[in-house]
Amino acid sequence: MTDNVFTADFDEIDRLINSCTLCSLGSKRTTAVPGNGSRTAELMFIGEGPGYYEDQQGLPFVGRAGQLLNEMLGAIGMRREDVFVTNMIKCRAPNNRDPLPIEIRSCGPYLDRQIELVSPKVIVTLGRYSTAKFFPDEPIGKLRGTPANWNGIIVYPLYHPAAALRNSTIRASLERDFLKLPSLLEATTPTAAPVQPPPSEPQTAQLGLLDAPPSQSADRPSEDSAAEPQDEPPSDQKQLGLF
Ligand code: SF4
Repeated sequence: MTDNVFTADFDEIDRLINSCTLCSLGSKRTTAVPGNGSRTAELMFIGEGPGYYEDQQGLPFVGRAGQLLNEMLGAIGMRREDVFVTNMIKCRAPNNRDPLPIEIRSCGPYLDRQIELVSPKVIVTLGRYSTAKFFPDEPIGKLRGTPANWNGIIVYPLYHPAAALRNSTIRASLERDFLKLPSLLEATTPTAAPVQPPPSEPQTAQLGLLDAPPSQSADRPSEDSAAEPQDEPPSDQKQLGLF
């Protein structure tokens, strides 16, 4: 056993998170939500933070947004247990507000270690907060649906399923982007040749809809913060021309 997050294994990470009080959310949660799924997954999903049901059950994406995620995985022939799912912050924020920069920074080492341990081939960022972790200097409206290289891992920013539940245009975009995942996973290297032509996007997808807070969901019904995450920028960012 270790208390060092940088050398912790999966079980130790879960234990550290479940006892964590590094930020104020630790005293407000019902249950921490470390994340779950295949520890050898090629595909990893990173959302924003636990909602009500996640906080109750200690599991990520178990509400309506999670059901949609499961449906979309099914559409590409994958099961939830094939992938690893986690969030930027591991404890629910009061009233489902957006996570604060200090909370994201405090929780960051857990996520970093999870990424290191899972070592996925593709990371799907769901919504603006997890996307900003990898590409803090890029407007998110330009990033959605465009895979990019981050330290040798393909990062693929998508809308948050919770946003898709509220907006049919976002849902259509998300479902369309999801269908590209098998091709991304088949790409043997981050610099692989193009695997699919780009879909034609409705104009509404370029109008800032991605910026709709991912916390606006049935799982996380209230949101009013404009807080922005301030993670350290990655050392190796490169847009890929996969689509
Ligand atoms: S959100 Fe993260 S840093 Fe904050 S108490 Fe929970 S596990 Fe610890």
